Amino acid sequence: AWTLDVAAAHAWLADFAARVHANVDLLTDLDRQIGDADHGANMDRGMRAVAALLVQDFADAAALLKKAGMTLVSTVGGASGPLYGTFFLRLAAALPDGAPGSPGVDARAFGAALRAGYDGVVARGKAQEGDKTMLDALAPALRAYDEAVGRGAAAAFEAATAAANAGRDATIPLVARKGRASYLGERSVGHQDPGATSAALLLESAAATLGR
Ligand code: ADP
Ligand code: MG
Ligand code: MG
Repeated sequence: AWTLDVAAAHAWLADFAARVHANVDLLTDLDRQIGDADHGANMDRGMRAVAALLVQDFADAAALLKKAGMTLVSTVGGASGPLYGTFFLRLAAALPDGAPGSPGVDARAFGAALRAGYDGVVARGKAQEGDKTMLDALAPALRAYDEAVGRGAAAAFEAATAAANAGRDATIPLVARKGRASYLGERSVGHQDPGATSAALLLESAAATLGR
């Protein structure tokens, strides 16, 4: 049966760090158009620091994801650091503990933890879906995950990734209402949101590493 153990969380974070690094120029170019051209550098700095944690031993997935969240908060100066950091901190806090005899983290429990992470980003950033932010990739992804999870973890991650990518693309015609891009008002229309783009990479990493 599928479970989120520490090895799986490790693989997810390592894969996300690699995808961010491979897409650093894309993320920067998108942020150049509607922000301050640092989203690639911000995410790469943060995820390199997270990847550097992975030489340590962690008791369980929650301990690793909590440390990853703290690391993102402390190493990324931009808006995205505290927001991604909050996502991982709240996700970690929502995971059922891995004590012997406990059911562990099944695919439904992981979906609920992802939802807690999302709710943390909403609470911290005060944005909502449609504001042209990372939420526009995450929200449809979590809905798709919940709809598909009855068919198993692999189906859930595959559906979530497709929905995240569609949500990322759907940011292009939106007017930005939160973050730096909101300073542009209507001039933000026609540009893909950088944070929605990195969030779609996070789901792609989940599908590649956890969706098995
Ligand atoms: P900064 O804007 O401080 O330079 P980044 O460039 O690293 O930070 O991140 C920008 C991204 O952060 C945006 O593309 C958007 O997706 C996301 N973002 C900004 N503000 C918010 C918010 N209040 N809620 C959710 N996401 C946000
Ligand atoms: Mg920026
Ligand atoms: Mg910045």
